[in-house]
Amino acid sequence: MHSLKEILSFQPDGRTLTASGWVRTKRDGKNVCFIALNDGSCMSNLQVVVDKENGSVPAETLARCGTGAALTVTGKLLPSEGGGQEAELRADSVTVLGDTSEAYPLQKKHHSVEFLREIAHLRARTNTFAAVARIRSAMSYAIHTFFQQNGFFYVHTPIITANDCEGAGQMFQVTTLDLDAVAKKALPEGIDYSQDFFGKKANLTVSGQLSAETYACALSRVYTFGPTFRAENSNTTRHLAEFWMIEPEIAFCDLEGNMEIAEAFIKFILKYVLENCREDMEFFDARIQKGVIETIRQVIEKPFVRITYTEAVGELEKAAASFEFKPVWGCDLQTEHEKYLTEKVFNGPVIVTDYPKEIKAFYMKQNDDGKTVRAMDILVPRLGEIIGGSERESDFGKLTARMKELGLNEKDYDWYLDLRRFGTVAHSGFGLGFERLILYVTGMANIRDVIPYPRTVKNAEF
Ligand code: ATP
Ligand code: MN
Repeated sequence: MHSLKEILSFQPDGRTLTASGWVRTKRDGKNVCFIALNDGSCMSNLQVVVDKENGSVPAETLARCGTGAALTVTGKLLPSEGGGQEAELRADSVTVLGDTSEAYPLQKKHHSVEFLREIAHLRARTNTFAAVARIRSAMSYAIHTFFQQNGFFYVHTPIITANDCEGAGQMFQVTTLDLDAVAKKALPEGIDYSQDFFGKKANLTVSGQLSAETYACALSRVYTFGPTFRAENSNTTRHLAEFWMIEPEIAFCDLEGNMEIAEAFIKFILKYVLENCREDMEFFDARIQKGVIETIRQVIEKPFVRITYTEAVGELEKAAASFEFKPVWGCDLQTEHEKYLTEKVFNGPVIVTDYPKEIKAFYMKQNDDGKTVRAMDILVPRLGEIIGGSERESDFGKLTARMKELGLNEKDYDWYLDLRRFGTVAHSGFGLGFERLILYVTGMANIRDVIPYPRTVKNAEF
């Protein structure tokens, strides 16, 4: 059996074939009935035409072909007599595989994304969410393709970690302790984690980076691509509690090399989507965000702007009056600042480097000025940060000195410090939030709508 995508690519030469899918709409004419069938393999529907007079399909069967029903249709593929499509399937027989009813929530009319979020188990049957799902799949494939073509090895870093050292965000705890029982005992001395599953406190990972570094310092070029978890209480259109992150880590590579790879990577994915997801991208361009295709084309063409954090703050100070949060050297850039830089000043992606060490993680390579580190964030219009990365501190002395300043316990990081004890080498990497990249590519407005089942504060439905 052929997918509808295949069938729609065939010459409508009268061949007989069988198609299956779900009814999007049924329209009754006087002598014929038109059924728009979709199986999710592509955006377009196959128009099925049933002759109501020749008796090929009993009226009782036709009555069961309402929106949402699952059908198998056998018929002849012929040039369409109506406009709007090239081919249509003239049905010789229709079998209802699964009935539907008036209660089906996706009757033909416009549904808001908010409503569709409440029926997330059905929303992939709409044009928008099916297109997002197909693009998400294509982008995943492109991500692996980029890295595999460039000599990177895919490494699976752990989801459960007992390192408290990642520091990238609030963690979810993983435990098999009976918390109710613990609470009833009300232990003044606290919980005895030696009784817990791992014999100590464990969490869901917030980043695979530290483990990826160990493999980069063995295989040279590696990447992770998997789920990460942050229990941050940020109710924004850009934050999920469970999201997918792409984290390459590269040995023998400084910040310059890191930026080059990040830029080439983003451009590769954008190009892949334009070339391979044309129908879906045209939909997003027409229905979700006007001009998104042209924007992406321009991003692929132009080199990304690169400025230092200090220069960025200089730019922001010129427009200080227009911000809610005053730009001050030493403070992290707010989303409004990131949007201003990318939308108003540079009109495209911007790589900001050399942030103050106080607002960045302990492992970032220290600059000679004693104040900044070799960090780089990539900011894009509409979203702000999509990538956070850095060259890592490879000097044992400098790294441990910084850890001491921050009150981190060297013992906890012993294995990580071994990388600096034995054959230490310049290495760099970055983390890219997959869902943010999907938002960027599709023009979708809310991160809850580019992952099948979003997990956010107070929400883990389905
Ligand atoms: P932000 O400042 O936007 O909260 P961050 O600085 O906490 O992000 P990093 O720790 O640098 O983010 O993580 C690397 C990348 O992971 C980010 O650039 C972003 O694309 C993505 N990311 C981070 N947190 C989230 C989240 N809660 N939901 C979705 N993506 C995220
Ligand atoms: Mn960051």
